[in-house]
Amino acid sequence: MGIIVQKFGGSSVADATKIKNVAKRIARTHEEGHSVVVAVSAMGDTTDNLIRLAHEISIDPPERELDMLLSTGEQVSIALLAMAVSELGYQAISLTGTQVGIITNGFYSDARIQSINKARILSELERGRIVILAGFQGVSIDNEITTLGRGASDTTAVAIAATLEANRCDIYTDVEGVYTADPRVVPNARKHNQVTHDEMLEMARLGAKVLHSRCVELAKKFSVHLCVRSSFSEAEGTMVVREDEMIEEVVVSAVTSDKDQAKVSLLGVPDIPGIAARIFQAVADEHISIDMVIQTTNPKGTADLSFTVTEKDLQAAIKIIEGLKGEIGFDSVSPDKNIAQVSLVGIGMKSHVGIAARMFQALADANINIQMISSSEITISCVIDETETERAVRTIHDRFELGGASS
Ligand code: ADP
Ligand code: ASP
Ligand code: MG
Repeated sequence: MGIIVQKFGGSSVADATKIKNVAKRIARTHEEGHSVVVAVSAMGDTTDNLIRLAHEISIDPPERELDMLLSTGEQVSIALLAMAVSELGYQAISLTGTQVGIITNGFYSDARIQSINKARILSELERGRIVILAGFQGVSIDNEITTLGRGASDTTAVAIAATLEANRCDIYTDVEGVYTADPRVVPNARKHNQVTHDEMLEMARLGAKVLHSRCVELAKKFSVHLCVRSSFSEAEGTMVVREDEMIEEVVVSAVTSDKDQAKVSLLGVPDIPGIAARIFQAVADEHISIDMVIQTTNPKGTADLSFTVTEKDLQAAIKIIEGLKGEIGFDSVSPDKNIAQVSLVGIGMKSHVGIAARMFQALADANINIQMISSSEITISCVIDETETERAVRTIHDRFELGGASS
């Protein structure tokens, strides 16, 4: 009948009772005649707690040791889940990223998968076992344990599904699918039956953490049948599909928000060619990615320049810019953590005009000031004051009438 990959997130395996329930679901799929490969996250808030613990020991923990520490979270959950499946009378085996041979590029805390050795998984499946893999981790060719970025157990699951040419990859989580907004922020958010890869990619990039963005890229590239559904109910989930597979016609599909953003503002930068290139090259050299950029010129021949980075990169970005002060000669540089990005996503934007104006008007009517704007073919994003995030999301969601009963 083929292979099915199932991924269970941290909230789905948060305690012993939940682990037992997940085991029953896995056993049911096995009973239907499928070969089952499972990718699991660490229990509940384990990863957050381990990060907190590391920072109690060190202000700036060595990245190798941090990855070593964080990878233990998933090792706990796979062992417990394998025990729970065995308790039900089925054969199961847990495997770490190293045991499977999930080979990464060795970039600590944000490693990319380079190859997966499927031999071990296939031989376990042939022996009739349910294979339970640690999500979020891999090993470099130098034998170093690396993690794949926060939320990346989704990516482990899809990468495994692609490698094994699985029939399906089901991502089980604590909501029933992909919604028009985070259902915890917008109570009347509507569940989608389908979203396209490109919409889902943008949603993930712009803060909807229901799927890790790299897993969507992989699903698109390797045509993996990807579905998001609930661990706690039998409701049908959301399929992530190609654009030509879309049955529903939507203009706007979701409102997202991202509070993990910070702004760097430089005042009084010389307004001459080459300055922006120098600044952004210096930041890129430290592997810091910049999202939005805004520049305004002043009459006195200088410019003010602001750009956004993720909060974790803020201090490093400020330090780099301060290091350029002697060379470039700007007046000042300042950080601002109190910002958030709210975004509207929808493939229909390609063919409909006036969407941006409606979004800006909705924010204006709610008296929410827009600090920066950016757009792509299917997105519009605004930087606003962080304290207004939830109100902004609800306001935009209402204005585009995205809410209602489940479709
Ligand atoms: P898991 O631990 O299963 O990986 P995550 O916490 O990473 O789960 O992702 C699920 C969460 O994503 C949901 O609980 C929900 O609050 C949040 N979320 C944000 N935006 C959306 C959205 N548009 N649709 C569904 N869930 C969303
Ligand atoms: N446990 C990891 C994290 O919390 C990976 C995951 O949950 O997908 O980021
Ligand atoms: Mg997740």
